[in-house]
Amino acid sequence: MVTGKDSENYTETGTVPSLDEHGGRVGIIPAEVDGIWSRRKTKVQTFLLLLLLIVPWTRFENSQTILMDIPNRKFTFFGVTLWAHEAPLVFLVLIIAGLGLFFVTAVWGRVWCGWACPQTVFIDLVYRRLEILIEGKFVARRRMKIDPWTPTIYFKKTLKWFSFFIVSSLIAHSLAAYFVGARELLRMMGDSPVNNMTYFTIITVTTGLLLFNFGWFREQFCIIMCPYGRFQSALLDADSQVVLYDAARGEPRRGSELDATPNKPTANKTGDCVACRRCVQVCPTGIDIRYGLQMECIACTACMDACDTMMEKMNRPKGLIRYGTQSGKSVTLLRPRSLIYLALCIVFFVILGIQLKGRKEVDIGLLRALEAPYQIAQDEQGRKVLLNHFKLHLKNQTHHSIKATLSIDSKKWGNQFVLTTPENPVDLPGGEDKVVHVFVKYLEPWNLAQGQKTISFQMNDIERELVLVGPIAEQKNE
Ligand code: SF4
Ligand code: SF4
Repeated sequence: MVTGKDSENYTETGTVPSLDEHGGRVGIIPAEVDGIWSRRKTKVQTFLLLLLLIVPWTRFENSQTILMDIPNRKFTFFGVTLWAHEAPLVFLVLIIAGLGLFFVTAVWGRVWCGWACPQTVFIDLVYRRLEILIEGKFVARRRMKIDPWTPTIYFKKTLKWFSFFIVSSLIAHSLAAYFVGARELLRMMGDSPVNNMTYFTIITVTTGLLLFNFGWFREQFCIIMCPYGRFQSALLDADSQVVLYDAARGEPRRGSELDATPNKPTANKTGDCVACRRCVQVCPTGIDIRYGLQMECIACTACMDACDTMMEKMNRPKGLIRYGTQSGKSVTLLRPRSLIYLALCIVFFVILGIQLKGRKEVDIGLLRALEAPYQIAQDEQGRKVLLNHFKLHLKNQTHHSIKATLSIDSKKWGNQFVLTTPENPVDLPGGEDKVVHVFVKYLEPWNLAQGQKTISFQMNDIERELVLVGPIAEQKNE
């Protein structure tokens, strides 16, 4: 079976490896690793990083591909704009994303953490590489930590943090483009910060947070803060793919007590683990995978590459640490847990599709204007009219311009009702909203039961109710 010892015994001291005996942080400086998995990961992460940086500068159907316009409360994804009043649809998207993550975790374990999480991607691909470039490989960096500070160390540290600052600022600006829009961001960057104080502050704070997180906090985020890391133990089962040490093959490791214990069945045979501890040296969270599956393992595959290199040198088969399942079965989608997640994902996806298909091109919000609920006036022919004033909030939910024609169907309601607006038809640019003042005249004779009458008006092919109010006393047309 491909398992290690109980997960509670995951370090020799029984403590989290990133903490010292007083609970203080032990800054982990992992060794560099090269191998088939790290090369594959670099390709995937480079693609994801470029995607993250490029997407806000791309357009899809006349709008930015992804734009989360919080001040105007509208969210655009690949040509579909969801407004604040469509929060249930946004909620559906989040449910699908959550269930998708559950499905992936149930089948492939923490593949998200190791391969795609921004925390891993930015640290692996950007910050740690810069650090190696400036301060040297892990041995030099570990020595730098204990050596007395010299002008060279001061210089390297200053240069490193300056480069971290530049990179953090670039990332913060790229992230801001998702919220303010790439074009608007460019405009603001060419303007004085004083004129854009809110965004300047947000980007500065974001730069600071990124600098703190990717430059210093690093693995502690995964170990201490990440909620997904906490509940992944509930999502994984014995058939999920995880990074595992093959204890049956590796133990008793070279030089271990087990090796010398006479009553152990394997005592006369040394396992394949040569106790080089390379797997521990390369681990970004500092754990020893030989002690079994642990919550701190982000499935980054570094120990797999490190051990494979060692096995190659020792002329032994690779895969002492490898992807596998705790049950020893091969990874499959066809399990009740993964199928349930997948089925729920599909159900919510279909619901979302139906909801999106049923969306009207223009959303209409109707509000009575704030002044007096009605007025009685005379029209051009000297007839007495009841006047109701409404504010119509029209939102063009597409990305093309729409001409919205407002009318009251005279065949249905007779010629007594006249709808007027300063602009009819109303020009609605794609993805924009507009407030239109609408006046509805009700010519005598009025028929206002309880002081009100419900009719309807039309905007293109959409029909909406309209409640006219008037004086109860005047119902009889005295
Ligand atoms: S145990 Fe291996 S896979 Fe897990 S975090 Fe450490 S190096 Fe990465
Ligand atoms: S890298 Fe492989 S051989 Fe070396 S200590 Fe780890 S498991 Fe054992």
